Amino acid sequence: DVISYSNFIQDIITDDLKTNKNGGRVVTRFPPEPNGYLHIGHAKSICINFGLSIQNKGKCNLRFDDTNPVKEDVEYVDSIQTDVKWLGFDWEDRMYYASDYFERIYNCAVELIKIGKAYVCDLTADQIREYRGTLTEPGKDSPFRNRSVEENLDLFEKMKNGQFEDGSRVLRAKIDMASPNLNMRDPVIYRILHATHHRSGDKWCIYPMYDFAHPISDALEGITHSICTLEFEAHRPLYDWFLETLNFQDRPRQIEFARLNLTYTVMSKRKLLELVKNSYVAGWDDPRMPTISGMRRRGYTPEAIRDFCERIGVAKTSSTVDVALLEHCIREDLNAKATRVMAVLRPIKVVLENYPDDQVEWFDAENNPEDPNAGTRKVPFSKVIYIDRDDFMENPPKKYFRLFPGSEVRLKHAYFITCKSVVKDEKGEITELICTYDPESRGGNSPDGRKVKGTIQWVSAKHAIDAEVRLYDQLFKCPNPDESESGDYKENLNPNSLETLYNCKLEPSLKESKLEDRYQFIRTGYFCIDSVDSKEDKFVFNRIVALKDSWAK
Ligand code: ATP
Ligand code: MG
Ligand code: MG
Repeated sequence: DVISYSNFIQDIITDDLKTNKNGGRVVTRFPPEPNGYLHIGHAKSICINFGLSIQNKGKCNLRFDDTNPVKEDVEYVDSIQTDVKWLGFDWEDRMYYASDYFERIYNCAVELIKIGKAYVCDLTADQIREYRGTLTEPGKDSPFRNRSVEENLDLFEKMKNGQFEDGSRVLRAKIDMASPNLNMRDPVIYRILHATHHRSGDKWCIYPMYDFAHPISDALEGITHSICTLEFEAHRPLYDWFLETLNFQDRPRQIEFARLNLTYTVMSKRKLLELVKNSYVAGWDDPRMPTISGMRRRGYTPEAIRDFCERIGVAKTSSTVDVALLEHCIREDLNAKATRVMAVLRPIKVVLENYPDDQVEWFDAENNPEDPNAGTRKVPFSKVIYIDRDDFMENPPKKYFRLFPGSEVRLKHAYFITCKSVVKDEKGEITELICTYDPESRGGNSPDGRKVKGTIQWVSAKHAIDAEVRLYDQLFKCPNPDESESGDYKENLNPNSLETLYNCKLEPSLKESKLEDRYQFIRTGYFCIDSVDSKEDKFVFNRIVALKDSWAK
C-alpha cells in the first residue's frame, strides 16, 4: 500500500459509495497552479488526493490550474510532474490543464449572461470593493447590474476581442448583494488581461477567475470529490451555485481540510519565490527549502515524506506541525535502509608509531546492524589514519571516554589505540597525535578483557576520499518565522543554516556512491551525494539529518 487513510474524507467517500451517489465512481484531482515548485504542504494534498483514489479504486487527475498567465511558467509545469512522480504517484493518462477549458469556460460565462445571471461591470476594482459592503453592512448594487442580456453579450464579446483595456471592465455573476457571505455578492468571474499565456499564447485577453474556473474544470473532468484547503470553505456556496446555475448534471462535492504548516519554515509560494529570486537560497532545490525538490536533493526519501503525511492525518482545524516529526520520519526510514560507513568530518591525523610502515589490513565492516541481509564490506587500515577533532581533547573533563593523552579508545572494526603524545605547530595548533595500537585487540576486543568505553570512527589516510560536506540547520531561526515583529519573515532567516566543511575524509567504499544512495556516517548523521554540485573528482555530500532525534513521542 502506498498510503492508507482513515479520516473524515474517507468517511464521506465510504457513505457515497454505499448510497451509490456517483455511480460508484471516485475521482479526485491534484490541482497545482504552475507558479512555483511544489512544497511539503503540496505533498500532503498529493498524498490525500492520490491516496484516497488508490484506496477507493478510483482515479486521480493531475490538473494544472493555469488561469493566471502572469505568474505561470513551463519550468513549473515540468517540475511539478517530476515531483509528483518522485513521490510515488501516477496520474496515468489523466493530465489536464485548466487552460484547455478556456473555450468551454467562456461558453459557460455566455450561458450565465443569457439566463440573466451575469453582467459586464465598468466599476473600478476599488469601487467594486467599496460597493461590496462588509460583514455587518449589505452591499450596494452596481449601476451596471441591470444591463440587458443583449448589451452584456455585446460587451463581453468585445472584452474577448480585445477592444477594452486591462482593468476597464469585468464580468460578474449576478447573485445577491445582501448575502451574508461576501463571496456571493456578485463576484468577478472574468477579467481583462492582455498577457501571453504559457500554453494558449495570445489567444485570450480575458481570463476566468479561480472561483469560476475551478468548479467548471472539476465538473468537466467528472471529479466526484474536490478536496481543497480550509480557506475555500466560505467559497463553497459559490462553487455549488455555479454548478447548479449552469445545470451540470454530475456535481462534484467540495470538501475542505486544514493546510499543513510546519515549524521553522514558510510555505507560501510567494515567499519561497522571493527567497529564490533574491538569492537567500541557492534555488528552488536548495536542500534547506521545504520544497519537494529541495528535500529530494537533501536526501529525503519519498517513503519518509509519505509516512509523514500519513502520520499528520487530515483534520478540519489548522495547526502547525513540529518539523521534528518530519525529521523523525526520515531517520526512521534511513535507520532501516542506510549503509553505515566511516567518515571523518573534521580530521586530525593520527600516527600509529608501532604499526608497520607499509602494512595495509582490510577489516570486515557490517553494513547495517538493522538489516541482516545488508552484508559487509572491506575497510582498509594503515599506519596513518584520521579521526575527528571532536574525538580528542588535550585537557578532558571527567568522564570523557574518547581520546586524550594517556587514554585508550577502540577504533570501530579495528584496534584499541592509546594516545602517547601531541604534536603542535609554532602557533600551538595540534597537527597530529602520536599513538600506539595493541595488536592483540584486532577486531575490537583485547584478550585480557580490558574495558575500553569509547569507540570512534576513523579513516585510513592513504585510502581516504576527500569530500566537501554540507551541514544544514533550519532555514529560519524561530518556530514561526511569519510572526516577526517587523512583519518581514526574512528577518527570521537563520544566518547559520548552512555550514560547509571542505576537508572531510571518507572511507574509500564511498567512491562508488550513486545519487540515490543514502548513508549513515556513524556517530554523525545520515548523508547522501549532492545531485547538483558533486562531481567525479570532487565529492559533495549533504547531511540529510543528524542522528539525534528530538521528536517527543
Ligand atoms: P500557495 O499559497 O503556497 O501559493 P496554493 O494553495 O495557492 O499555495 P496551489 O498550487 O493552488 O497552491 O495548490 C495546489 C493544491 O495543493 C491545492 O489544492 C491546495 O489546496 C494544496 N495545498 C497548497 N498548500 C498546501 C498546504 N500547505 N497544505 C496542504 N495542501 C496545500
Ligand atoms: Mg491555489
Ligand atoms: Mg497560490
